[in-house]
Amino acid sequence: MLPTFDPRDTEAGSRILEDITSNAGHIQEQVLEEILTKNASTDYLKGFLNGQSDKGLFKNKVPVVDYEDIKIYIDRIALDGEPSRILTNESITELLKSSGTSGGKQKWIPKTAEEGERRAFFSCLCDTVLNSFELRYFQGLNDGKALLFVLINPDIRTPGGLVLRTGSESEIKNRKDRYPQFILCEDTNQSLYSQLLCGLVQRDAIVSVGTFFASGLLRIIKFFEEHWQEMSSNIRTGQMSDWITDPNCKRAVSLILSKQMPDLADSIDLVCQEKSWEGIIKKIWPRTKYVMAIITGSMAQYIPALEFYTGGLPVVSPVYGSSEAFFGINMKPLCSPYDVSYTFIPNMAYYEFLPIDNHQDPNCTNRKDAHLKDHIVDLANVKVGQHYELLVTTFTGLYRYRMGDIVLVTGFHNSTPQFKFGQRTNVVLSIHTDKTTEQDLQKAVATAIQILEPLGFFLLDYSSYADTSSIPGHYVLFWELQLRSNDIIPELDQVKMEKCCSLVEQSLDQKYKMLRNQSISTIGPLEIRVVKQGTFNVLMDFYLSQGTSLNQYKTPKNIKSEKAIEILDSRVVGKFYSREVPNQDS
Ligand code: AMP
Repeated sequence: MLPTFDPRDTEAGSRILEDITSNAGHIQEQVLEEILTKNASTDYLKGFLNGQSDKGLFKNKVPVVDYEDIKIYIDRIALDGEPSRILTNESITELLKSSGTSGGKQKWIPKTAEEGERRAFFSCLCDTVLNSFELRYFQGLNDGKALLFVLINPDIRTPGGLVLRTGSESEIKNRKDRYPQFILCEDTNQSLYSQLLCGLVQRDAIVSVGTFFASGLLRIIKFFEEHWQEMSSNIRTGQMSDWITDPNCKRAVSLILSKQMPDLADSIDLVCQEKSWEGIIKKIWPRTKYVMAIITGSMAQYIPALEFYTGGLPVVSPVYGSSEAFFGINMKPLCSPYDVSYTFIPNMAYYEFLPIDNHQDPNCTNRKDAHLKDHIVDLANVKVGQHYELLVTTFTGLYRYRMGDIVLVTGFHNSTPQFKFGQRTNVVLSIHTDKTTEQDLQKAVATAIQILEPLGFFLLDYSSYADTSSIPGHYVLFWELQLRSNDIIPELDQVKMEKCCSLVEQSLDQKYKMLRNQSISTIGPLEIRVVKQGTFNVLMDFYLSQGTSLNQYKTPKNIKSEKAIEILDSRVVGKFYSREVPNQDS
């Protein structure tokens, strides 16, 4: 049973938060017991526990799985319309489209009405933390407004009759009462245009700006860059552009844009006409105290870009959650993006942790190892300083399910561990026996880009693929660079770019360097293809057109789709190769 409280009552919320984080171990045992009691008779668990709900038996018998292992059960429910009790005795009402690994393969995750309640409780706790930090640090936020961008797509139904949505869409569509001011429109362009226009008209009331992920916020800034003149002209004339035909958008805008506002339009023009858009958020919404967007894990690559556009405003990265379950809340919203830790909320799901040797490639852990479960620890027994892969057991039918996320224990809030978000465990590049993970690649790219930073560049986004069309195959990185001055990118210095290629190689692991060093190389020199500005927006639009939502979009770090590679390749403005073989001794 979840405790209840009025979400506006910050004191009551804080008391509950203190209480549950002081009893994490006990609550976790209760959660597991409840899940097993409820679901022991499901087809899935019966196969391992023979109908029993014993926790010891669960820990001994139930295997660690990933999506491929349980897909067959989910497909039976989603495609063949079989009942939920194959996996859970709660009734599955929706399937959530998870962005899954950055390989881009979508997963369908069951959601139930009861799970909706659990997530609502989690959201209330998160609001409690945000409200109390606003009260503590900022004056006058109560009379201001938060500009939170949300996007939705049309619902799809599976052949089995279940609604298929993203997690954020599910949250928004099921709880419209909580978000009465949101503009819900299924056309991304009309929706973004209208939300930005409303934000501009109410420029002086806005005290925070945000969306779900940092990458989404950058896309929104680009959209603003492409449309600000038209928006300003709408404000000047008091008339919204006639390509906005969606009734929800028209209604929302007409409530606040009902007269000509030439002074406001002038002031917007003045800001937006500046050559560099450094600090644009702070300039357009001068009362903004902070920006809200998840900026940890794979989103950390966007920290420099976001710092540039926000003019150094604090970025609040509030939660760690997924389609599978909600996990943790950031208790120190104002801390540096590099220091964010999430405190796991112990009554959301049952969490377990598979230790990862800090120096070991997570992919070395044989994914099907029968002894994997001997190494698992529960929430109460994790150790500070240790990396773990997160496993989750939910009320909704996932048991010891590998999230593919790596977390690092940084400390405790009361008796509850706090985790920093590591990178996803997935391999993004592979040729022969080399396996380069997303984490390795991000570190290598971050090291290499330092060469260009003194020249005023930052890396707006990047991706990669293994080009095996020639022998030996080689890794290709696509980089979209931007100048802080907003100038057109000049011709790039060949020597510096080649150095970037070598630095990426030098930062990859020993296996990669060994394969590059063989007398007949198994992997060829790494290549960086610089793409023209706006390319990653086109890539994002391509994935959005395939059913991904901007709310959950994460740039795939390993591009598999031929169409996506074509999009990137057709916008390449410079190709550079590593000229040095990486040194195996460093
Ligand atoms: P989805 O199921 O599509 O919502 O994606 C969930 C995934 O997003 C998680 O498994 C993480 O890899 C990533 N994610 C969610 N929250 C965070 C966070 N706070 N920091 C970094 N990555 C996150």
